[in-house]
Amino acid sequence: MAARMLNGAAVASAIRAQVAPGIAAFTARAGRPPGLGIVLVGDDPASAIYVRGKLKSAGEAGLRADLKTLPASASLDDLLAVVEQLNHSEAHDGILVQSPLPAAMGADAEYRVFDVIRPEKDVDGFHPVNVGLLAQNRATLASCTPSGIIELLERSEVPIAGARAVVIGRSDIVGKPMALLLLHRNATVTICHSRTVDLPKVAATADILVAAIGRPAFVTPDFVKPGAVVVDVGINSVTSAEEAKRIFARYPERLAVFGKKGSVLVGDVHPDVAEKAGALTPVPGGVGPLTIAMLLKNTLTAAVDRAGT
Ligand code: NAP
Repeated sequence: MAARMLNGAAVASAIRAQVAPGIAAFTARAGRPPGLGIVLVGDDPASAIYVRGKLKSAGEAGLRADLKTLPASASLDDLLAVVEQLNHSEAHDGILVQSPLPAAMGADAEYRVFDVIRPEKDVDGFHPVNVGLLAQNRATLASCTPSGIIELLERSEVPIAGARAVVIGRSDIVGKPMALLLLHRNATVTICHSRTVDLPKVAATADILVAAIGRPAFVTPDFVKPGAVVVDVGINSVTSAEEAKRIFARYPERLAVFGKKGSVLVGDVHPDVAEKAGALTPVPGGVGPLTIAMLLKNTLTAAVDRAGT
């Protein structure tokens, strides 16, 4: 039987609708809307698309959203100076620095940025203080993508307490916070990564399987216990006709997308998994919209907490 599709776009709309009155009330109380400062460094086309989406959604939700751009040649000090300006800005409650940063900024550039953003404005939840609070289950600002996935699971009535959850991926942005959020909701959590032995076998123990790997269609049906809930975090753009054909041989409508655009979005989960899983998030339209909805929610939370009202 085909898996139930978990509708991330619909849950994201519901979250945005719930956040809207809070934004209106804050704006009326404070005499200004909650403000979000987004910093984009360089000209990575995918980052530019993500940032445009965030600015548009923030504007539609009634937030003030400002974009600060820096050229790819900017130094880390240039970037930290922009972050400091936003740290001191009364109009900005949230700060987001779009990843990835140019490689020339150095291997630890992202950590240097996370360290500098004021924790109370850290709407991505990446500052060590917020990461520590998350580890202790008392975070107010947690990473947007995993928080959005929890909203999706809860609102789709997927039982988390007591479930066996396997998270493939241990990044600071997705895998680790995802595992912590599931743990805090009483799942029994296993984290897998590139050194995990017998990965398909470990993954197939999961009632809830989260794939945050960054490899197109990596999770095939042999990774999946029949009836499991599978969350596909991956967003991979496939530009090779051969690879698109290999993944979507049985899905002419997705091949048609490739034929038209010369690329097609593929998650970390192979489409054949839909025949074995009990529920699955689609790509696109699954986890992506939730990330943006949680960014709006975190910006409102940061604004309210900063204002103390
Ligand atoms: P990342 O920092 O590159 O981390 C990838 C993780 O996958 C690492 O922990 C890595 O293991 C693991 N991995 C890589 N190859 C593996 C393999 N062959 N077997 C097992 N594990 C493997 O990526 P990320 O930032 O977490 O993002 C993951 C994916 O989610 C990407 O496609 C990204 O575009 C997408 N994403 C989507 C959203 C959204 O809003 N939908 C948000 C954020 C990210 P090691 O640690 O051992 O290297």
